[in-house]
Amino acid sequence: MKKIKVIALLLASALVLVACGGGGTDTDSDSKGYVGIAMPTQSAERWIADGANMVKVLEDLGYETDLQYAEDVVQNQVSQIENMITKGVDILVIASIDGSALTDVLDKAHEAGIKVIAYDRLIMDSEYIDYYATFDNYSVGVLEAEFIIKKLDLANEAGPFNIEFFGGSPDDNNALFFWDGAFDTLKPFIDEGKLVIKSGQSTFEQGATLRWDGAAAQQRMDNILSAHYSSGEDVHAILSPYDPISLGVIESLKNVGYGSAEKPLPVVTGQDAVAAGVKSIIAGEQSQTVFKDTRELAKKTAEMVRSLVEGTEVEVNDTETYNNNVKVIPSYLLVPISVDIDNYHEVLVESGYFTEDDLK
Ligand code: BGC
Repeated sequence: MKKIKVIALLLASALVLVACGGGGTDTDSDSKGYVGIAMPTQSAERWIADGANMVKVLEDLGYETDLQYAEDVVQNQVSQIENMITKGVDILVIASIDGSALTDVLDKAHEAGIKVIAYDRLIMDSEYIDYYATFDNYSVGVLEAEFIIKKLDLANEAGPFNIEFFGGSPDDNNALFFWDGAFDTLKPFIDEGKLVIKSGQSTFEQGATLRWDGAAAQQRMDNILSAHYSSGEDVHAILSPYDPISLGVIESLKNVGYGSAEKPLPVVTGQDAVAAGVKSIIAGEQSQTVFKDTRELAKKTAEMVRSLVEGTEVEVNDTETYNNNVKVIPSYLLVPISVDIDNYHEVLVESGYFTEDDLK
């Protein structure tokens, strides 16, 4: 009886010790540093993969992590970052929801001596961004536009072909880069009259899709179809910057009879290679997507973290492009890849990003 009591006591004190030592704060003496990772939302696959990859790569390198998702609510993200500052993180890695809404909280991070890496999306209007890890965002739009040029054979065909443009979220700096890359590349054909934007909606503000919402894009496509395509004209191409937007647009088009031999779907681009988008490509509906390997972005960002913690030089490959209204942020740009029915297997399955089953 006595022995059992002693064992119970020992166990209880061991538990207390474990409880005091845990709790996700920077108390692990083996840890090389503590990294707060603020992600925008779990409603999109890519951010789930980004978060998981970051945690894995950083923990393998010996860092502790605190990963938070804000479900696209700006105030949640601000509170989560405040919380990370209070918990004593050494580095913040932030994929912002609204790139211009973090100025105050980053002032606090700076006062606490925390270094900040903008992850994938540039954080605007703050001096206290140290580095930016992303993909070449302008070239994402170029790849989408080049796909349309190739598919419509604009070098040889006179057209005219009807095209509509969809943009991403206006509070995400990337969305402008995607739009500009696509629009600049297609503009010569628009000027020449080979491509016609029947809706007349040719500015980013007109095409933007708040929070990248596929349902909002579907609604906008419904409106465009009824206002500008109800006398038998066909849409031949959709410049879309994100698979869920593409899928919303395709839904709208199918609702008015597109998707048959007599009325084929237009060429529809996309981005992110989300499973539903790739399945749609396999099914012959969406035409293309742009794959950005989140595993590579996580690796690059983790290298930046390590260099910052160890005080060694941070590797960047662009010191000109990304001005956040206060300064140019030194950046590392990874290369995006255009994916369609011809190369999806090699790029997405053979690289282990998806299994065959993921795409069934
Ligand atoms: C990212 C895209 C993503 C979009 C919506 C952008 O900032 O760069 O990859 O599709 O946000 O989540």
